[in-house]
Amino acid sequence: MTATDSRTTRWSNWAGNQKTELVGLSLPRTEIELQQIVQHAFKNSQRVKAVGAGHSFTGIALAEQQLIDLTNYSEIVEIDSQRCLVTVQAGMQLSVLNIFLHQHGLAMPNLGDISYQTIAGAISTSTHGTGAQLTGLAGQVESLRIILADGSIVDCSATANRELFDCARVGLGAVGLLSTVTLKVVPAFTLAVIEQPMRVDELLANLDTHVASNDHFEFFWVPHTGWALTKRNNRTTEPAKPMGKMSHWYAKTLMENYAFGAVCMLGRAKPSLIPKLAKALPASGRNEYSDSSFKIFASKRIVKFYEMEYAIPRDACAEALNRVRRMIGDSGFFLNFPVEVRFTAPDEIPLSTASNRESAYIAVHIYKGMDYVPYFKEVESIMNSYQGRPHWGKLHFQNAETLAPRYPKWDLFQSVRNQVDPKRVFSNAYLETVLGK
Ligand SMILES: Cc1cc2nc3c(=O)[nH]c(=O)nc-3n(C[C@H](O)[C@H](O)[C@H](O)COP(=O)(O)OP(=O)(O)OC[C@H]3O[C@@H](n4cnc5c(N)ncnc54)[C@H](O)[C@@H]3O)c2cc1C
Repeated sequence: MTATDSRTTRWSNWAGNQKTELVGLSLPRTEIELQQIVQHAFKNSQRVKAVGAGHSFTGIALAEQQLIDLTNYSEIVEIDSQRCLVTVQAGMQLSVLNIFLHQHGLAMPNLGDISYQTIAGAISTSTHGTGAQLTGLAGQVESLRIILADGSIVDCSATANRELFDCARVGLGAVGLLSTVTLKVVPAFTLAVIEQPMRVDELLANLDTHVASNDHFEFFWVPHTGWALTKRNNRTTEPAKPMGKMSHWYAKTLMENYAFGAVCMLGRAKPSLIPKLAKALPASGRNEYSDSSFKIFASKRIVKFYEMEYAIPRDACAEALNRVRRMIGDSGFFLNFPVEVRFTAPDEIPLSTASNRESAYIAVHIYKGMDYVPYFKEVESIMNSYQGRPHWGKLHFQNAETLAPRYPKWDLFQSVRNQVDPKRVFSNAYLETVLGK
């Protein structure tokens, strides 16, 4: 978990690969306090950085001067069940929001595979789940209330301050401090899950059908094997049939976390064992169960890792994955984490990783403490040939020059950023690299 230690003023992210010594730390409780922090920074030419749950792998959330921890600014502001709208303070954790919505007969239409993130952190990096008809979380935002660098407070939506709204939905923390977020939610729903291993060649040959015929389709190709673990989640009106408590603990806690962690540790100590250990994974049979959507989407993550994820055009997915498979086969890398593949609908948000294109996401992982650079660089060079867009919160080696041509509305984002934060109050070293100074 992220750690903000008020005595030593040290901060680190979840994976432990981003750390900083802080000059200042504030834990505001009200919007006025937020505004005062920003005004003070603006007047004194300082930098401020809001952090969410610290679940980004990149330095996107590293504060160089004043860190704003939003733990105490995380309440529900308003719920309108009739119109399916909920307004929350920026530090609201998704896991807390999910339970609150469920109690009101509502749900987020889609989520990623964890729910530890804050709503502001999640939308700011273009966090997404899977589902060819569904956008990432930023696409679920109805309106925003933002504190700009000069301390002014602006409300924006599709009908008011549209350009600011679009840029701030996936703002990387660079266009302003999000104060409150209003989300468009849906009536609560149940998802029926089928988890099943498939031969990866067969799966890729029928990829379009799998993606089109399931509400949420994803798969995990297991390196050093010809197998993929598939997960198909579809809405059902049947009563939920959750896994039994013991089965759930066995599958989701023991196998996906502790046993998998032990296998990773063994592989880190003796990498040449990895291909043999990998062959044990696909043996894990077919599971069918159903439950409330938020319980299906998000899981526990105890095993720590480093991750890189690229969004590419959907129709390039099979070819790109096959190139990754060949590269791994030829490279001599020993990899103990599956390669995860997901899909989303396009949106029109300038820096969304799915901006203006139907997208497939290919994510690679390395167990914490192992060298990720050679593997991630090889994968990245494949993704470059598809105009790949890296997840803003996951590791990559791009910069503003290489990224600019990959986003059709890059210039719009830059012009809004220049307008609302000319003094770069909200910047840091990562943002200087990916957006420019
Ligand atoms: C185990 C794990 C699983 C993950 N699974 C997924 C997944 O399924 N799908 C996916 O897409 N991603 C996934 N991620 C990535 C994660 O969703 C993103 O990195 C997300 O940004 C983390 O949210 P956070 O609250 O921790 O934000 P942080 O990492 O703390 O911050 C991210 C950015 O948001 C900014 N920010 C935070 N609050 C504000 C605010 N109030 N105003 C303006 N800017 C703000 C920060 O300044 C920073 O720029 C995963 C990460 C981990 C570690």
